[in-house]
Amino acid sequence: MNVSRKSFLKTVTAGFGAAALCEFATPALALAQEKSRLPAKSTRIRDVEIFPFNLGMKEVIKIAIGTDVAADNVLVRLRTEDGVIGYGEASPYSPVTGETQQTDVAMGKSMVPILKGKDAFSIARIVSEMESFAPGNGSIKAALETALWDICGKIAGQPICNLVGSYRDSFETDMTVGIDTPQVMAEKAREVVRLGYTTIKVKVGDNPPLDIERIRAVRAAIGPDIKFRIDANQGWSPSQAVHVLRAVADQQLQMCEQPVIYWDWPGLRFVRENVGTPIIVDESVHVAHDAIVGIRENAMDAINIKLMKCGGILQAIRIAQVADAANLKCMLGCMDETRVGLTAAAHVIASQKNIEFADLDAFVFHDVDPVIGGMEVRNGMIYMPKGPGLGLDLDPAFVAKLHAA
Ligand code: MG
Repeated sequence: MNVSRKSFLKTVTAGFGAAALCEFATPALALAQEKSRLPAKSTRIRDVEIFPFNLGMKEVIKIAIGTDVAADNVLVRLRTEDGVIGYGEASPYSPVTGETQQTDVAMGKSMVPILKGKDAFSIARIVSEMESFAPGNGSIKAALETALWDICGKIAGQPICNLVGSYRDSFETDMTVGIDTPQVMAEKAREVVRLGYTTIKVKVGDNPPLDIERIRAVRAAIGPDIKFRIDANQGWSPSQAVHVLRAVADQQLQMCEQPVIYWDWPGLRFVRENVGTPIIVDESVHVAHDAIVGIRENAMDAINIKLMKCGGILQAIRIAQVADAANLKCMLGCMDETRVGLTAAAHVIASQKNIEFADLDAFVFHDVDPVIGGMEVRNGMIYMPKGPGLGLDLDPAFVAKLHAA
């Protein structure tokens, strides 16, 4: 947590403050709202454009399964025959979904015929056809589906969360501290608290004895009142997980995320049955049928949903609803999205009562924020944009540098 990151955050929040003075962040969104008052002539998709782009990181984040050194993402832009534009973003992370920027570009181009000429409002149909075309590939599917919702919201003159049924218009997010020495992690955690966050997520999982020291050092640094969750990213064996979590049983951990490898449901259940800390799964649940397996196995207390894993807003809502029917809470997390993908995730949180936890901090670590408007972050709280669709625009200077694949 260096000075540049802090000043970046100040710049971002100041920008949001100015944007909040007007109803919508940009003239383009206001125009979309105005157009929505007229009946649409055609809501069919005319153009599908796919743009790979790369952002540097202000701070490298190390986790148990890799080190995040850059955001190599994909932006998609859809346009209707009436000229309404929708944006969506893929942030592929191969250790979890098997996707890379290159595979997302290739798969996105392969799926263009599924979208072209279709009514933007036939989202369930298009999602079903994308599923039939290729399983997996959740990140690029999420990008394409998000762009459809963005268009529908603009045509309807409503934010996406209103289209699917809004529940809340603000919520808390955490801020993540990557793996490092206990001393460095404690200092970074202190800085997160100084920035106004009241929930912190700490990465562990590469060294059980050191993980115990890291957790104790961070709790000592942040005091007793900050909510403190850890994420082992599959790094421990079941017995190591039980050992670590019992050793830190007095550290008031809110939850432990993905203690063991994603496919080991009996291992997850063993951990859950032998510790008092709630167990939340991430890599073990990509889509709704994974959630049903976890429920049958009695192996989890909560699910960390990600648009990049599940393939979009409809699938994310499906997981949340399956979890709700089993009396489970959810988190909504992220890979390495800009505020395009993060705002799409925020619309899902805004619409689902049982998504009580949010981890939407990826943009803070990027060296550029290409988004105008979108979700607003102040003192660890996220506030939903009021504009139609996603409620955001892209910085024209950023768009000018993009090259369609
Ligand atoms: Mg995780």
